[in-house]
Amino acid sequence: MQHLWRPYTQMKTEPPPLRAVGTDGSTIALVDGRHLIDGISSWWTACHGYNHPHIRQAVAAQLSAMPHVMFGGLTHAPAERLARRLARMLPGDLNHVFFTESGSVSVEVALKMVIQGWQNVGRPRKRKVAAFAGGYHGDTFATMALCDPQEGMHRRFAGMLPEVTHLPVPSDVAGKAAVQAFLRKEGDQTAALIIEPLVQAAGGFRFHSTETLRWLRAACDAHDVMLIFDEIAVGFGRLGTLFACSCADVIPDVVTLSKALTGGTLPLAATVARTELFERFLSDDASAALMHGPTYMANPMGCAAANASLDLFEREPRLQQAMAISDHLRRELEACRAVSGVVDVRVWGALGVVELEHDRDVVWLRRRFVDEGVWVRPLDRAVYLMPPLVISGFELTRLTDAVLRVVTDWSRH
Ligand SMILES: *Cc1c(COP(=O)(O)O)cnc(C)c1O
Repeated sequence: MQHLWRPYTQMKTEPPPLRAVGTDGSTIALVDGRHLIDGISSWWTACHGYNHPHIRQAVAAQLSAMPHVMFGGLTHAPAERLARRLARMLPGDLNHVFFTESGSVSVEVALKMVIQGWQNVGRPRKRKVAAFAGGYHGDTFATMALCDPQEGMHRRFAGMLPEVTHLPVPSDVAGKAAVQAFLRKEGDQTAALIIEPLVQAAGGFRFHSTETLRWLRAACDAHDVMLIFDEIAVGFGRLGTLFACSCADVIPDVVTLSKALTGGTLPLAATVARTELFERFLSDDASAALMHGPTYMANPMGCAAANASLDLFEREPRLQQAMAISDHLRRELEACRAVSGVVDVRVWGALGVVELEHDRDVVWLRRRFVDEGVWVRPLDRAVYLMPPLVISGFELTRLTDAVLRVVTDWSRH
C-alpha cells in the first residue's frame, strides 16, 4: 500500500525515492550507509550546509521557549527582529515585511498587495499582472498562472487560472519593444510586473543583465506600474551579493523571499514592500487592511532559524565563499561545452548550469549521479549545481567531476 504522494513524480514508473536518514555539512546520509554530496542544497535552501550548530541551537532554544503562537493580535521578538534585519539588508525603503510559510504563498501575498494597493488609492482598474517567459513563481493557482505558459501545468488547468500576460524578458530590442507596447496599451489596467531578477531558475536557468532590470524599473515607473522581484531562488548570497536587487542597484516595489531564508531548516517566507505601498493600507476604513493571514504565519521557530541564518551571513564569509564557488564552477564546468549534446554552459555566482539539447533520459541522469555519490537532479534540460555556500573544495571537485563524467556518458549512451 502506497501512502505517500510524491512531488512531480510519476509514481508508477519512476524508481522509488532514496531513504535519507541524516544530513551533515554538505552531505546526505542514506539508510544503506552511502553519503551523497548535495549539489543542489535541498531545493536551494541549505546555504550554510546541513545541521549548522548555530541554527540548531537557536531553533532548540525557541522550541523550549515558545514553538508557536498565533500572529493575530500577538507579536514576538523573533519576528520583530527578523523584519527589522531584512529591512536593513534590503535596499531603499523595502521596509515592511509580511511573513508566510512558503514561497508560493509569499508571491500570492505580493499579488494581493499590489492589486488591493491600487484599489485602496481609488484605481481599481489596475488589476492585471504581467510575468515573463521562462519564469517560475510557484505551484498554487495564481502563481501557476504567472509561470511560463509553455510549462505543463498551464494546459492542465486552462480556464481556471487568473489571466496573466506573458512578456519576453526585455534583454534585447525586440523584448523591450514588446514590453513597451504592452505598457502603452495596458499600463492603465496593470497593477504590476513580476520577474525573477537576474536568473530565472526553475523555468530553465536563464540569465539576464542588471541593465535589463534597470530598464524595466524605468519602464514601469513611466507607466505607474509596480515591479515585483521574486528573489526566492536567488536571494541570500546565491549570486554573490545578498540579493539580486542590490546587485542590480534597482529597488522594486515588492520582494519575495523564501528558500534560503531559514538556511534550509524550517518553512518560512517573506513578502517585503516599500513604504509607499505599505501606507496605501493605512486607513480609517477597516476594509482597506490587507486581507491575508495564514495560521502559522511568522512561526517563531522559523523566525529564530532565519535570524540565526542572518547571523551566519554577518559572521562568516558567505559571499566570498559564493565567489570562490563561482570561480571553481567557471573553471571546471567549461569542459562540458565540448560534449556533444551540450548547448550551453553558464555560471552566475554559486550557480552553474550545463544545458542539454533535449530532456530525454532525465531519470537515467538522476540515477547516474547517485551512482557517482552526488545528489544532482537535472530539471528538464538543465543539469545545474547550487551547492551549499560552505562546501569544501574537495566536495565541489567531486560535484563538477561527476557532472562532466555523467554528461559525457549521457551523450554516448
Ligand atoms: C521555489 C520558488 C517559488 C515557490 O516556492 P515554494 O516554497 O516552493 O512554494 C517561487 N518562486 C521562485 C523563484 C522559486 O524558486
